Amino acid sequence: TLDAAWAVDWVRRSAAAVAEHRDELVELDRQIGDGDHGENMQRGFRAVVAKLDALDAPPATVGDVLRLVATTLMSTVGGAAGPLYGTAFLRASKAGATDALGADGVVAMLEAALEGVVARGKAAPGEKTMVDALTPAVAAAVEAADHGAPPSAVLAAAALGARDGAQATVPLVATKGRASYLGPRSVGHLDPGARSTQLILEAAASAAA
Ligand code: ADP
Ligand code: MG
Ligand code: MG
Repeated sequence: TLDAAWAVDWVRRSAAAVAEHRDELVELDRQIGDGDHGENMQRGFRAVVAKLDALDAPPATVGDVLRLVATTLMSTVGGAAGPLYGTAFLRASKAGATDALGADGVVAMLEAALEGVVARGKAAPGEKTMVDALTPAVAAAVEAADHGAPPSAVLAAAALGARDGAQATVPLVATKGRASYLGPRSVGHLDPGARSTQLILEAAASAAA
């Protein structure tokens, strides 16, 4: 069941994945940005895990976990990604506020996250940002839920959508964020934020598997 314990496991797996891929995210951001994305994300998720470890009692709901992630990422990640992920997790926390998530709850959570990123960063699909990983993730989740998939399978579909979406950023020209300063020279590189979004959604799916 996708309850608060699942959400905690998701966060811990995200922190581990971000740490494991820190150098890769740094290198991707070095190619089309300022080379700090791996550092920013590792610092943020390390702080989230520290806060979880310091809680007196385990969080009661998925919403509680995601709200803690949101506020911590907003105050520790910095750069473009901090407010974007912070807003995504804050919106997601409202969608996952109470009981364990069913398939529709997973879809609502992912849709809310995407809406948060778009509200904050104003990027459309195709601009070579994390929106390009989240948009196909949401689409794949909606399709899986429409076919009656259980919540864990909806998350697995979302992770695959994110993976495909991240890979599809390679040929794109960046038109938002730092990478847009490179214009056409941003072509041929994977967007670091799309890659970290993939890692986070893969962590969500593996925690549910
Ligand atoms: P900074 O660019 O400030 O150094 P990071 O390196 O941590 O911040 O994050 C860069 C990532 O943020 C990009 O790879 C991209 O995915 C994402 N990003 C940047 N601007 C936007 C935006 N307006 N909308 C969505 N995502 C964005
Ligand atoms: Mg950067
Ligand atoms: Mg930076």
